[in-house]
Amino acid sequence: MKAPSSVSEALSSIKTGSYTTKDLVSFYLHRIEENKDLNAFREVFEKTALEAAERVDEKIRSGTQGKLAGLVIGLKDNICYKNHQVSASSKILDGFISIYNATVVDRLINEDAIIIGRLNCDEFAMGSSNENSAFGAVKNPLDKNRVPGGSSGGSVAAVAADLCLATLGSDTGGSIRQPASFTGTVGLKPTYGRISRYGLIAYASSFDQIGPITKNIPDAALLMEVLSGMDEYDSTLSSKPVPSYSKELQSAGRKNIAVIKECIENDGLNPAIRNYIRSLIDELKKEGHTINEVSFPYLEYMVPTYYVLTTAEASSNLGRFDGVHYGYRSKAAYDLDSTYRKSRTEGFGKEVKRRIMLGTFVLSEGYYDAYYAKAQRVRRLIRNRTNEILKDNDFILLPSTPDVAFEFGKNSSDPVKMYLEDIFTVQANLAGNPAISLPLGKAENDLPFGIQLIARDFEESPLLAFSNHLMNTKTLIKTES
Ligand code: GLN
Repeated sequence: MKAPSSVSEALSSIKTGSYTTKDLVSFYLHRIEENKDLNAFREVFEKTALEAAERVDEKIRSGTQGKLAGLVIGLKDNICYKNHQVSASSKILDGFISIYNATVVDRLINEDAIIIGRLNCDEFAMGSSNENSAFGAVKNPLDKNRVPGGSSGGSVAAVAADLCLATLGSDTGGSIRQPASFTGTVGLKPTYGRISRYGLIAYASSFDQIGPITKNIPDAALLMEVLSGMDEYDSTLSSKPVPSYSKELQSAGRKNIAVIKECIENDGLNPAIRNYIRSLIDELKKEGHTINEVSFPYLEYMVPTYYVLTTAEASSNLGRFDGVHYGYRSKAAYDLDSTYRKSRTEGFGKEVKRRIMLGTFVLSEGYYDAYYAKAQRVRRLIRNRTNEILKDNDFILLPSTPDVAFEFGKNSSDPVKMYLEDIFTVQANLAGNPAISLPLGKAENDLPFGIQLIARDFEESPLLAFSNHLMNTKTLIKTES
């Protein structure tokens, strides 16, 4: 049996009797076992996945299946699935079992997707390489000496290695798009307020979004259609109607596309990526699209602004992990204060502690105005300028990452170097816009890199349609540096 390349292919193979949904789940379970060394899965839900497969087979036989029948999907280990463990790849949630479903999980199940397991990630989604997981790093299936990116490292590795057909990740500053770029997969961060975060373990609430990681655009569109829209449990959601994304994949007309000068000229950008973007621009011009070179003077402020604001929010969100409410409690605790102190000291990893301390610092009296309030103002400038560019342009085109996947340990000793990996992805989170990483290029050693498009708020539909056009016509133009 060969892994299906899309949901529609899986469903038609099941309908024509090539295999059953149960066979498909067994096939993936086998592949997960064979690829255990990748460390992509934290846990495989073998029993509940096989049971669900039988139910879906029954529905397909009677023609009553939902939109996602045939989809075997994995969840990042920060999304709650009732009666299953969830840990955010942290020791502090050791043994914690979710008592409810995230809204996205309900929606997947209602449309007959099968959830096969939970996926390794950086602890509390903090990281760009998956090296911050308390349960070991994930290996990049394309080169096992390299990181898969982070924080949704397990989610992208599982799709790239055919351990399931699609996965959900979360993206606070690039955690879907950056690892998608490193593994040749499609990663979409929806507009802030498009998909419910109810049941997502919060990192930085004014940034966090859940989104799909897939092999292609039609599957991303299908997932968006199912997952988007109002939810009484998440008040940040927009009431804007949810388009039929999967039926609107024909990109119409000529587009105005902005290219940010400072991104292309950035010293840290791998020349192979720069060359690719230049040749892509030439091709797009030949097709009749207009390319506008624009300036974005805030590039150097993006990463500092992101880290001041997200650590502040994290220091508050992670206050609930205190050794009393959830999961891990230190054996050495003897009173209330030592329960908090020792459980948190032992339960959190180094990077998470660094961020809680940094976030507490920027919020503390005397520093609040200098750091937190100032970063809020810079965020507003970044959002305004992004929207100003998008007034005259349908999309902003930029790299997803400065380089291809790096080797393990390369950035581990220098947090600032690691944070700079996010330079091209944090803009969409600071501004709130939807953004996608498309696996269009390959550089040295055949390693992939992503091309990113940012669109106007809630314009996922034209974004997906134009992405589909690019994926169908421009995949894998190889450029040498
Ligand atoms: N790498 C970024 C960080 O460490 C992004 C993480 C994310 O999007 N969850 O914060």
